[in-house]
Amino acid sequence: MKEWMLSEAEGYEILAKYDIPVPKCKIVKSAEEAGDVAEGIGFPVVMKIVSPQIVHKSDAGGVVTSIGTKEGAQAAFNRIVSGAKEYNPDAKIDGVIIEEQADPGLELIIGGKTDPSFGKVITFGIGGTLVELLKDVTLRILPVTEDDARQMVREINSYPLISGYRGSKPKDEETLVKAIVDVCRFFEENEQVKEFDINPLRLYETGACAVDSRIIMTDVKKKVEKISRPDIPLEYFNPRSVAVIGASDEPTKMGYAVMHNLLHFPGQLYPVNNKRDTIQGLKAYASITDINAPVDLAVITVPAMHVPKVVEECGEKGVSIVVVITAGFKEMGENGKALEDRIVAIASKYGTRIVGPNCLGLIVPPRGLDTTYVHQSPKAGNIAFLSQSGAIVNTVVDWSLAEDIGFSAVVSVGNQSDLNFFDYLRWVERDPHTSAIIMYIEEINDGQAFMEVVSEVAKTKPVIAIKSGSSARGSLAAASHTGSLSGSYDVYMEAFRRSGVVSVHTLTGAFLAAEMLSHRKRYPVGTRAVVVTNAGGFAVLSSDYAERYGIDLITLPQDVIDELNSFLPDFWNKGNPVDLLGDASERRFEQTFEVLARHDDLWDMCFVVGFPNNILNSEQMANQILKLSESTEKRVICSLLGGDSMNRGRKILRQHSIPSFEELDFTFRVMGRVLWQQFRVRAPGLFN
Ligand code: ADP
Ligand code: MG
Repeated sequence: MKEWMLSEAEGYEILAKYDIPVPKCKIVKSAEEAGDVAEGIGFPVVMKIVSPQIVHKSDAGGVVTSIGTKEGAQAAFNRIVSGAKEYNPDAKIDGVIIEEQADPGLELIIGGKTDPSFGKVITFGIGGTLVELLKDVTLRILPVTEDDARQMVREINSYPLISGYRGSKPKDEETLVKAIVDVCRFFEENEQVKEFDINPLRLYETGACAVDSRIIMTDVKKKVEKISRPDIPLEYFNPRSVAVIGASDEPTKMGYAVMHNLLHFPGQLYPVNNKRDTIQGLKAYASITDINAPVDLAVITVPAMHVPKVVEECGEKGVSIVVVITAGFKEMGENGKALEDRIVAIASKYGTRIVGPNCLGLIVPPRGLDTTYVHQSPKAGNIAFLSQSGAIVNTVVDWSLAEDIGFSAVVSVGNQSDLNFFDYLRWVERDPHTSAIIMYIEEINDGQAFMEVVSEVAKTKPVIAIKSGSSARGSLAAASHTGSLSGSYDVYMEAFRRSGVVSVHTLTGAFLAAEMLSHRKRYPVGTRAVVVTNAGGFAVLSSDYAERYGIDLITLPQDVIDELNSFLPDFWNKGNPVDLLGDASERRFEQTFEVLARHDDLWDMCFVVGFPNNILNSEQMANQILKLSESTEKRVICSLLGGDSMNRGRKILRQHSIPSFEELDFTFRVMGRVLWQQFRVRAPGLFN
């Protein structure tokens, strides 16, 4: 792969073709020429070093501004060249560029990079020398529409510097939006442009001017191979018979644990082991080919080197899916990769599909199928969980039992040698038991295809993702040298948002979001909220969290306050959050909810924050919440705070699919993530 940088002058030339305003300029090779050219361009001028090896010109003393005379230009030439030689003796110096000096203006950056998963990405934000410090940037994956560009401009924190701040006149927003759109066009139409930045673009009250350009080219053509993947038939995941190859009686062996979890499987179960006649009380077969009946699915736990032979036998036997739990493939380097390619080739010969290898396997609780070695099988429910980490599957399953959460499917995707995220997504999309999908993602290879598939799926079922690698260290590793103010993680976040995927930070958050979005009413239709509570302290915290996560607490209009006054104690707070006070009875909640339901045009969601006491038990509270939820089409979310005394209430709410959260901060945070996905509310605490 060859990579090279265009000179600033070449950069300006291309940008100008896309209507991006650039200064007049010319490259000179001698001090004498510099004087003449500067005079020709007209003073004042700016002079800068031209060298492919000097990326940050100012650092090399390679930028001189406000040159007002011919002699000044000659002197600047010598100063710049000798400074550059000192800075990097090996740098090849192509001359000095002389530019017309642009007026001072607001310095912005427009950059682009090619993300390894999602392709071309455009960034925009505050530029100049503060760019790394402020990190006030936003990004989009191409293609970008004019509306997207306008949204980008408005969503940076420093937008007031553009719209007019403290008496300063507004800048030319329309020119800026057009410049972003033009830059996107430039990036899209020039295949070879790998990354670039225009830093700064100076923005004025009228017009703008790019006063630097750094464009990196590559000769690598992006391969656009579109592989169509036919859907896996649903019955593949509903086998009538299962064989365990490597089944064992030895409790320390994986083949034991897998068999053990499959003992509850309602269909036929065949242990395969060439050293024993019986395994865990069932007749064992020396080879899968010895079984005198059809086998739909085979779980393989034998050592890696035996897997190709076993897969061959499974193919001959007509098995539709093999779940290869064994590790020691691609994740182990070259040899492992070769072995993996072999099993894929063998399986495809027979049309046999592969889950894994190097995975925990597949659990389909509604079918009583568990091919994993988890400690205890999870309950049946309506959440599908697809995970790139087996360890996380283990933990989540264990935790789900305590939390009383059930699954329609659990998949540890492993190396995705054959079946991958796309196939599993397509499966659970069609699976009638699944009402929400959670994915734990480390890395997606074909980001564009992923976005296509997941956008489709998210139209019918909520999709929630946890992406690892948000840490500075993680994104640092992914960052390259220019146009990379945003790490790869930010690109994932944008890809998710754009595809309708709600991204969350934590596993608990993922399940809460799944629960929240599984509800018939799904997404809130806006960001306006009311909070009702019987706990003053939590009222204050609720306001804090709402602000932090981008939820707008509405101001109650006087007529609503008047209505509430008619039955609430005189000293209620007369605001939102509505504090019903510690002695609030069931009736007080009921009356308040009636008023709010009647005025539900004012809000998009109602948070009910309750704590237990002797006046109102959790059951009564839950029943009133239920009544409120039934009397409005708007979303009702609650947080019943407290310990076991709240359990009965929580249970009632869960039975009616009303999301109930135990931690207040989480309640608002998860909703904030949903709102970000839906409305792009940039709240201060959402990504910190
Ligand atoms: P660097 O390689 O260090 O980013 P730049 O070309 O961006 O160098 O120049 C450094 C700074 O000098 C810019 O941020 C800008 O403020 C100023 N500058 C550069 N070119 C011009 C110009 N043509 N007119 C006015 N100011 C300029
Ligand atoms: Mg610059």
